[in-house]
Amino acid sequence: MPRTYFMEDLDAFSYREAVVGGAPIIVPVGSIEQHGPHLPLNTDVLLAKAMSAHVASAIGGIVAAPIVYGYKSQQRSGGGNHLGGTTSLDGATVIAIARSLVLEFARHGAKRLVFLNGHFENYQFLYEGIELATGELSARGSDVSVMLLSYWDFVDEATIEEIYTDGFPGWNVEHGGVLETSLMLHLYPELVHSERIVDSPPATIPPYDILPVRPELTPDSGCLSSAMAATAATGKLLSERTAQNLSKAVSAEFAPP
Ligand SMILES: [Zn+2]
Repeated sequence: MPRTYFMEDLDAFSYREAVVGGAPIIVPVGSIEQHGPHLPLNTDVLLAKAMSAHVASAIGGIVAAPIVYGYKSQQRSGGGNHLGGTTSLDGATVIAIARSLVLEFARHGAKRLVFLNGHFENYQFLYEGIELATGELSARGSDVSVMLLSYWDFVDEATIEEIYTDGFPGWNVEHGGVLETSLMLHLYPELVHSERIVDSPPATIPPYDILPVRPELTPDSGCLSSAMAATAATGKLLSERTAQNLSKAVSAEFAPP
């Protein structure tokens, strides 16, 4: 195995050797999106990258250089794309990036890829890009297999009950909330400004979208639920259990070579 599992830190020869040797490639996908006054704009990138690193170390994989920008933030899940700082790609661009990367890694000889998503709104656009690329590859007789997942889907029920003792608000309103803030407190404490956390009740946004957005529907903090209950200990628990569940699922599909 190479000295590091981060693709951008590897030399091309070690990278090619690992890929040809069957190492799965894990592509972290994030966003540049406001996460309230207490978290950095690249929260989704950092968390997707950290989860990818856990999976790579568990299964002997490589973490690809991340997709840093993501699809447009939506009011019901990320506060909305009208907010300053949030910097997003059109859906067609996300599809094109996902398609290109699958084809590029296939050209390198990779047979097994994982797109590990850290930004709610990306999912269907990644799906489409991956679907187009794997369709093209199958037609050429290539057997590349791609997993697509969002890391929060691997937080198990028992952990949710343990953390959200007052009831779970739902992943869509977790934006800038307990999950992301706890994980950041555990993984990147120097980037979290806990004193700036705004303690407000979960956002009450109607169950439909309206465009152009009505900015007043988004709480002033930009967060959709309060992060007051976030702790580094919760982040450690979340990080370890989620990484374990993720690694289990990926190795079940892609057993180490
Ligand atoms: Zn986020």
